[in-house]
Amino acid sequence: MIKFLDLQKVNAQYAAELKQAAAEVIDAGWFLLGDRVKAFESDFSNFIGAKHTIACANGLDALRLILKAYIELGVMQEGDEVIVPANTYIATILAITDNRLKPVLVEPNIDTYNLDISLIERAITPKTKAIMVVHLYGRACWSEELETIAKKHNLKIIEDNAQAVGAIAQRKRTGSLGDAAGNSFYPGKNLGALGDSGAITTNDDELAAVVRALANYGSAKKYVFEYQGLNSRMDEIQAAFLSVKLKHLDAENEIRRTIADYYQANIKNPQIILPTVEQHRDSHVQHIFVIRTKQRDKLQACLADNEIQTLIHYPIPPHQQECYKGWGHLSFPITEMIHDEALSLPMSPVMTEAEVAKVVEVLNKF
Ligand SMILES: *Cc1c(COP(=O)(O)O)cnc(C)c1O
Repeated sequence: MIKFLDLQKVNAQYAAELKQAAAEVIDAGWFLLGDRVKAFESDFSNFIGAKHTIACANGLDALRLILKAYIELGVMQEGDEVIVPANTYIATILAITDNRLKPVLVEPNIDTYNLDISLIERAITPKTKAIMVVHLYGRACWSEELETIAKKHNLKIIEDNAQAVGAIAQRKRTGSLGDAAGNSFYPGKNLGALGDSGAITTNDDELAAVVRALANYGSAKKYVFEYQGLNSRMDEIQAAFLSVKLKHLDAENEIRRTIADYYQANIKNPQIILPTVEQHRDSHVQHIFVIRTKQRDKLQACLADNEIQTLIHYPIPPHQQECYKGWGHLSFPITEMIHDEALSLPMSPVMTEAEVAKVVEVLNKF
């Protein structure tokens, strides 16, 4: 069986170091807001090239906290609009609606599957306060045009960096490009913890201070509560694991790129649409390798018959989800087509050459 992502095997590579890290936390007997989290925040800031990292409970909370902090700072208020790609994972949009802000969905570019920057300006209204770009599938969504639009209309750029930790655009890491970024360390992400965790990265001192307080019940000083906050903190044990795994992230992302290159060079089936290749190799960390075909469900069944596990990212677009019932009238043809045709092939830093070759062989025979 070729797994979509063999997490057991991914973490087995570092088993000795991870067990040592866990033992140290158990021996220290300190589980939250301690030295491990501080050390990881410093490691991650250095890696991303951002002034501040604020560790939190998960990637969704990272995005929620950024928006909540902007509301506390008076940058945004209830009912304001945030531009977001229509084909993103639901969490990006949940972060917006949870703060009683309004997501304005904009179609992706069919070549990159990322927000179509040329469509942003026509979606801007007097209520627009931010553009939330998503580096979807691990591909950086960034351009000078985006920066120009944000500057011209005085909009914040918030990055959803959940899928792209390690990617580089304009010689900077994603997560350091915009005003603030939400990062996820969900176990299946490129930098995966052994449980949930996430982080906010930003160069903005004021925002960082408010986010940090908000993640800790709204308190910067023990028993003094400045804001109505959340409890969203990273466990010491997860921070200790993440500091171990961060050291290997660039190498793992490079293996993912090698696998993507092999898929690109060898999948030769006219029914299959491959992802377009980025001009700058580093701008994609190949979180998932998404192909498209009109025969998606048949192809997935055929791969399963051949013991190859695939996933669909994602079967139902956000505007057609039960939780957003009121959006039934909205229509996003490109987004809907992607959701009907997309199939994610096995991709991980522990796939063997034989496994990658087998996937290609089955695809080419289909
Ligand atoms: C995973 C993910 C999130 C949420 O991260 P969690 O840590 O699972 O809460 C947000 N946005 C995108 C695009 C994601 O892939």
